[in-house]
Amino acid sequence: MAPTALAAPVVLPHVHKESCKVHEIKLKNETSVSLEDVVLTTYTNDETMKPIPMEWGHSDPSVRGPVVCSRYKDGLTKHNAIGANAGSYCIYHALAVGSKQLNPNYDADYTNAEPAFEIKEQPQWGDIKKIVSMDPFGHLVPWLFADVGKSENVEIKPTISITKAHMQLAEMKEAVDKGRLVVDGEVVINKNGDLNVSKVAVEPVWYLPGVAERFGITEAELRKALFEDTNGMYPELITRPDIKVFMPPIGGLTVYIFGNPADVSDPNKKLALRIHDECNGSDVFGSDICTCRPYLIFGIEEAVKQAQNGGSGVVVYFRKEGRALGEVTKYLVYNARKRGGDTAAEYFHRTECIAGVRDMRFQQLMPDVLHWLGITKIDRMLSMSNMKHDAIVEQGIPIIERIPIPDELIPPDSRVEIDAKINSGYFTTGKVMTEEELKNVKGRTWA
Ligand SMILES: [Zn+2]
Repeated sequence: MAPTALAAPVVLPHVHKESCKVHEIKLKNETSVSLEDVVLTTYTNDETMKPIPMEWGHSDPSVRGPVVCSRYKDGLTKHNAIGANAGSYCIYHALAVGSKQLNPNYDADYTNAEPAFEIKEQPQWGDIKKIVSMDPFGHLVPWLFADVGKSENVEIKPTISITKAHMQLAEMKEAVDKGRLVVDGEVVINKNGDLNVSKVAVEPVWYLPGVAERFGITEAELRKALFEDTNGMYPELITRPDIKVFMPPIGGLTVYIFGNPADVSDPNKKLALRIHDECNGSDVFGSDICTCRPYLIFGIEEAVKQAQNGGSGVVVYFRKEGRALGEVTKYLVYNARKRGGDTAAEYFHRTECIAGVRDMRFQQLMPDVLHWLGITKIDRMLSMSNMKHDAIVEQGIPIIERIPIPDELIPPDSRVEIDAKINSGYFTTGKVMTEEELKNVKGRTWA
């Protein structure tokens, strides 16, 4: 096998026509790959760049245009978005192509993949202030833009998909057994507590000027931070100021709807909502150090009840593990807490010592999905977070009632977390402890 050519980094000031063939890597019988002809970036002032027109925030999808970020086919000169499809999974796609298990020019066949139910088009879809972190037409692109994909020879992938399913949770069976939930054959299907649910998966698509505005910074500040902090991962953040859309390599979200999805945007029907940020250790694996799964399950149960009482219930699940610090940081914090005498008074401080901040979830972008669903008010908010509350209200969606997690659902070892959060501003209908009292709220030590 010939050695791979690894010369000094090649920065091409202009993209030459022949460079576009970089994607035509042969799938078979290839013994070496030259890195010298890889186009490191493209430039706005390059006349060969002809990005597909994009008018973010326009309500007519044919004017708004499709989001195109792939280099494949004619995408190198025609793409109008920076980054890659599929959020954090984009790297696996690269591995599939790199290991020659996937033809980069593979044409997806979307037969029968259409949404399983309709999300009614909302005026918010055409409001440049209201949706800046997802593509409101992301579930329709294979059908809206099939012709553009063919005529322009570019890859256009959906960033939203919509399906239906049943859910089976042990806690829902218990809720039926204890009479908290009633079997109605529609939302609660049977005495096992099986639930009917409508689901929406969403990948992030950021309109950079809008994201910058939500954080009160300039677009240039945002672009620079994204570029520098990822060790130069996407040079087009710097070299293509004309491209305003970025598909970040981060996790997305899933919407779980109980009841008729059309009722979610009906202002005459009551809505129960839980916004939940991922906590794999608790949500899936039953850790008792926090209230995540108990609150999630409570949220599902209350959402189901609202759907059965003539309204609808929504649970939105964001992939923001460990307050978006990630699970590695989270376990380091756990160690520091357990070794340092785990008290509610020290709870946030321990995270700040390791991560430098107490939270990186930044709820500013979270309400976009509520706008997309057409939610204009929340009757029952199943969350105590002041950050989530404030972000939603700032987006003009009033919250009528806030429902804290019931005391009996709080695992003893997670009192440290919940009491610290309440002291820091989380909503409660119960007691807010003083700093002095927080010192006496202690977690279990390692035995
Ligand atoms: Zn948790």
